[in-house]
Amino acid sequence: MTTCEGKTSIEEMAYKKKVAVIDDRFDSYEIEAGILEPLGAELEVHPSLSREEAPAVLKNTDAVLMNCFDMNETIIYSMEKCGIISRYGVGTDNVDIQAASKKGIWVSNVPDYASEDVSDHAFALLLACVRKITYKDRMIRSGRWNVHQDQKSRRIRGKTLGIIGHGNIGKAFHRKTASLGLNRTLVWDPYISPAEITRLGGTPASLRMIFEKADYISIHVPLSEETRHFIGREEFSAMKNDVILINTSRGPVIDEEAAAWALETGEIGYAGLDVFETEPLPESSPLKTMDNVILSDHAGWYNVESVMELKRKAAENIASYFETGKPVYPVNKVGQP
Ligand code: NAD
Repeated sequence: MTTCEGKTSIEEMAYKKKVAVIDDRFDSYEIEAGILEPLGAELEVHPSLSREEAPAVLKNTDAVLMNCFDMNETIIYSMEKCGIISRYGVGTDNVDIQAASKKGIWVSNVPDYASEDVSDHAFALLLACVRKITYKDRMIRSGRWNVHQDQKSRRIRGKTLGIIGHGNIGKAFHRKTASLGLNRTLVWDPYISPAEITRLGGTPASLRMIFEKADYISIHVPLSEETRHFIGREEFSAMKNDVILINTSRGPVIDEEAAAWALETGEIGYAGLDVFETEPLPESSPLKTMDNVILSDHAGWYNVESVMELKRKAAENIASYFETGKPVYPVNKVGQP
């Protein structure tokens, strides 16, 4: 009995909590290991885990670190020991949060690592669209010069900006555009009070008003059932024909087929898109052949410093869960009605 008890406690002492990293974005996981290994955890990296393999691989894992993996109900219910799914990033639309809550698993994110970076990216896309930078670059490389007449630029000063979603990134973007001499910035965010929008220099507006009045529209909402295909043919038709649309939020917020139609037919003027319904953007996407679109590869979040902050904070969510039973940035409520 004593031996048996002794053996158990030694086994317990030797037990290493398994943290499965199911992500293929990063070359090394030293930052995560530096935070989690001192707490008696070991990292198991599965860079190309398929949905089919996941239930068997994750069955005995204590925590999961992930980015774009489709963490669906089946996989969540197959995890027998997992206490936390920590997402590298802000949006958690690829995690079935309801299923995780039912199973008693925390879902956490890193809501504050990239607001400055994504808003910089939206700002860069806006200026590049206004000034036709990528088009000029392509033309000059192909031997042309004086290409102003191909794509006419309009002055920024005096124009109207529309911001849809005024959270961390929307607000940072708003602050950065304040130096442009815009006439006004219309803001639609039903979860922020009009007084707060006004305090931050915006004009509270309806979506309709933004579609009809804005020269530039930038989208900063999370992907949810409410915002999926938020903007389709009808909304594009309501916009100004030369409007510039920037999307750094999530691809499915826009009906991409409708966006291609609107750009092709002149319902809208230009678009700067960082996110897409399917990523990587398929070879067959008509957006790839259009001269009035600037594309980037879901890169708004990325730079050397933001990656380090993201990795540290995603690991700290798990460390906090191991130490206190709760992550630093919980997205759901566990153990509460
Ligand atoms: P946030 O939660 O701080 O802000 C989102 C805002 O959208 C909130 O103010 C909310 O009230 C508002 N909102 C929700 N539903 C709305 C609706 N139906 N209409 C209008 N407003 C609505 O999030 P954030 O940090 O600003 O990030 C916004 C989104 O950006 C994320 O959810 C994520 O999808 C995306 N993102 C993209 C990248 C990238 O690399 N491109 C990186 C980080 C985040």
